[in-house]
Amino acid sequence: MIQAAFSETGEYSGEINDQYDVVVIGGGPAGATVSTILAEYGHDVLVLERSTIPRFHVGESLIPETYWVLDRLGLVPQLKASAYPKKFSVQFVSDGWKESAPFYFDMMNPHESSQTWQVERADFDKMLIDNAVAKGVTVRTQAQVLEVTFEGDRATGVRVKLGASSRNVAAKVVVDCSGNSAFLCNRLGLRVGDPLLQKGTVWSYFKGALRDEGRDEGATIILQTEDKKSWFWYIPLRDDVVSIGCTGNMQYMFPKGSSPEATFERELERCPALQKRLENATRCMDFFTTRDYSYRSKQAAGDGWVLCGDAFSFVDPVYSSGVFLALKCGEIVADNTHAALVEGDTSGERLGIWRDDYAKGVENFRKLVYAFYTPGFSFGDFMREHPGYKDHLVDILIGAVFKPGVSDIFEAMGDIRPPSDRVEPEPTTA
Ligand SMILES: Cc1cc2nc3c(=O)[nH]c(=O)nc-3n(C[C@H](O)[C@H](O)[C@H](O)COP(=O)(O)OP(=O)(O)OC[C@H]3O[C@@H](n4cnc5c(N)ncnc54)[C@H](O)[C@@H]3O)c2cc1C
Repeated sequence: MIQAAFSETGEYSGEINDQYDVVVIGGGPAGATVSTILAEYGHDVLVLERSTIPRFHVGESLIPETYWVLDRLGLVPQLKASAYPKKFSVQFVSDGWKESAPFYFDMMNPHESSQTWQVERADFDKMLIDNAVAKGVTVRTQAQVLEVTFEGDRATGVRVKLGASSRNVAAKVVVDCSGNSAFLCNRLGLRVGDPLLQKGTVWSYFKGALRDEGRDEGATIILQTEDKKSWFWYIPLRDDVVSIGCTGNMQYMFPKGSSPEATFERELERCPALQKRLENATRCMDFFTTRDYSYRSKQAAGDGWVLCGDAFSFVDPVYSSGVFLALKCGEIVADNTHAALVEGDTSGERLGIWRDDYAKGVENFRKLVYAFYTPGFSFGDFMREHPGYKDHLVDILIGAVFKPGVSDIFEAMGDIRPPSDRVEPEPTTA
């Protein structure tokens, strides 16, 4: 069995000062990106991460547009030299067995950025954090932020738990990159769940699964089950390991008294194309579960604080958009926070100025996710009727969601709306 927990290395034990320009909560992709770029601008930055690094994390499949942020961070040569499987395409399988032709990302843009990677996140996230340390960021692991301190409405720093004790650290700006635990968003009551995407996921790692050959070997495969009640991801990793996860409406995935394994097996029964791939495979990790992870924050920033990555919003895993958005948001927040610090204006209005443009890009992923879950909607039929929108579709699949005009595709799609999984309360009689 692969161990999901890693030994406590204690490597990131940098001395902590009383005061920083910026304190970042969380050392995932968003935290590593925002801190690296701010340090490159010359700011004094502290990252506080509650777990150890490396640490296990779901989310192994990158999309091509990650290239540009990774390039800015100087990490493309390391990725090229790595043994991570190269990902050239994504392939969809409908009704449990109907395989469509893969979407090759370079069909519109034959640039090296059209190829990306399938990464183990423990390793990948450590690479990002090591890069942050090399650029001058102080990183402290096993450092859980207990609270963001405020004077009136203005954030003034954090209170952090270090071993048995805790202490205050002051900051001009606190950047919350705490992932889907969404530290400030939850504490300030800003979380808005997506009622149409109340999903749950069961996943594990397998060895010895059937892999495609050549250019297709590293492709992500998205396999819908027979009646589209759920779908599987199939993400080939290094050393013959494949990450396989199954997602469906929350109540369907986690019925009372059932185990994650039973749900996985139940759905596998309804997906012959995946059964074929798993015929000679053995599971090499326990099952994990996660649920109700699609949400956004009503606010992106306040005086002295700003949200970034999953701590601001997350939309369903089907198009593997999470790490890309965490990196992109990290870059945007870093550039903007630098400008705000130089101007001496760290008001909520100034720190959150990027919100609307960013949210528009995220909406393009969200609408494509809605189309995926809408009963009766078929991407194959849509493309046959509207071949002119192929480049829009590929743009969103690679992550070019901030490109002008890319959202035009949704006018042609018409009414895309997945059914809600929410159990409405019984109407009360007056
Ligand atoms: C089922 C599922 C499958 C997914 N699959 C993919 C995929 O294939 N590809 C993809 O790109 N994305 C995927 N994602 C999304 C992806 O994992 C996230 O979007 C990404 O990790 C976000 O990065 P982040 O830096 O914002 O947060 P995280 O990577 O979650 O990092 C947040 C960090 O903050 C730390 N932290 C939290 N609270 C505190 C605190 N109080 N004090 C100190 N530290 C704290 C945490 O320990 C963590 O290390 C998936 C998500 C889900 C739910």
